[in-house]
Amino acid sequence: LDDAGEVVSAALRGERGESQALRGSEPRPNDPYAPGQERYRVLRRALAGELGAPEIIAALKDAGLRGMGGAGFPTGQKWEIVASQDPEPKYTICNADESEPGTFKDRQILAEQPHLVLEGMLLGMLVTGCEEGWVFIRHEYGPEEEVLRAEIDSLRAGGLLGEDVNGSGRRLQVEIFTSPGGYILGEESALLECMEGHRGEPRNKPPFPGLYGLWGKPTLMNSVETFADVPVILERGADWWKAQGVNGATGLKFFAVSGHVEGPDVYCVPAGSTARDLIELAGGVTDGREVGAIQPGGASSNFLGPEHLDVPLDWKPLQDAGSMLGSGALIVMAEGTNLLAAGTNVLRFFRNESCGKCVPCRVGSNKAHAILSDLVAHDKGVGDVPANIVQLEETLRMTSICGLGQVALGPVLSVLGMDRGATAARAHPKNPDT
Ligand code: SF4
Repeated sequence: LDDAGEVVSAALRGERGESQALRGSEPRPNDPYAPGQERYRVLRRALAGELGAPEIIAALKDAGLRGMGGAGFPTGQKWEIVASQDPEPKYTICNADESEPGTFKDRQILAEQPHLVLEGMLLGMLVTGCEEGWVFIRHEYGPEEEVLRAEIDSLRAGGLLGEDVNGSGRRLQVEIFTSPGGYILGEESALLECMEGHRGEPRNKPPFPGLYGLWGKPTLMNSVETFADVPVILERGADWWKAQGVNGATGLKFFAVSGHVEGPDVYCVPAGSTARDLIELAGGVTDGREVGAIQPGGASSNFLGPEHLDVPLDWKPLQDAGSMLGSGALIVMAEGTNLLAAGTNVLRFFRNESCGKCVPCRVGSNKAHAILSDLVAHDKGVGDVPANIVQLEETLRMTSICGLGQVALGPVLSVLGMDRGATAARAHPKNPDT
């Protein structure tokens, strides 16, 4: 490959034309509502009192649903925490600020299945006692925002949003909050700061949003895919959901596949599928080449060599024969890719997106990028990387207050680790704790 940076740049963009993003694709295997069928069946049951909060939480726990934004926190437990807080104003937020490089699965879900996202969100509001919710959406997702607005309008018109939803006596309001832009705003506490009108910088955690969220009130925050999974589980049953997974995983999972593949796209597959399965689905490596490396959890994840192609893509760390699922993105690099250049390109992204609140992240990511990009520009290899980069990585990992700084140097250092045959699991940059 001539320009390794361009490979990851293409993966980073993860963008396709509007018509493709909104194409009417075949029904996804997760959707319990056949075309033409009445939707929001689970919500109607919950509003009618046929499905209570304890049953919903129990089903989510039984299904083993975890946060699909990268952190993997158990969803049933999160809902339970917010539900157990005093009945003061509580809020619900769907985090649709998807901007992890190479990650574009939520965009597709918003375009194709906004009804599942909103139904999951409204169920979350019912269970936790919220009246007001927002979808915080990435500002570049204009077409998807339009789809969402149309769906919200139809919910209002159909009486499933408003002051007395379906005659239940419950008030449920959902609005869209368009992000002013910036990767870090998808970090949950920076998102809250932004919604409160402050500069979008992460907060120190704890406390977590479930206890101290928007305007200091308990806040239920889940990603697009997590909310969309909720009505699927409640309509089809936790046993059905669990049976969909393979290799010890449960459920279905959306993956964005990009980089050196013939068919970059969003695929809905059994959770626990391998990178090899996804590459096959995507039509194989470009021009019939071999895999050189993969990033199995988006650009923030470590580079793994082809010997890891058959490791299930799940929540387990690599040392436990998992891959760290991350944000549901698989970036593929063909053999011959300059991985140091690709890793440096990822670092450039994090350097650019650092909010600047912590000195180690703000200064360290810039310093490391200057050193590594200079090496790349002079055709140097991993053997030329100075040892103090490793110390710098440790400093950022130990002292940055949010995941961005903690993982900024991880991917590029994993390239060195590949040479040593060693890789380490790292947290997700946006929400490493939850
Ligand atoms: Fe901002 Fe980086 Fe600190 Fe995160 S680690 S708060 S992105 S400066």
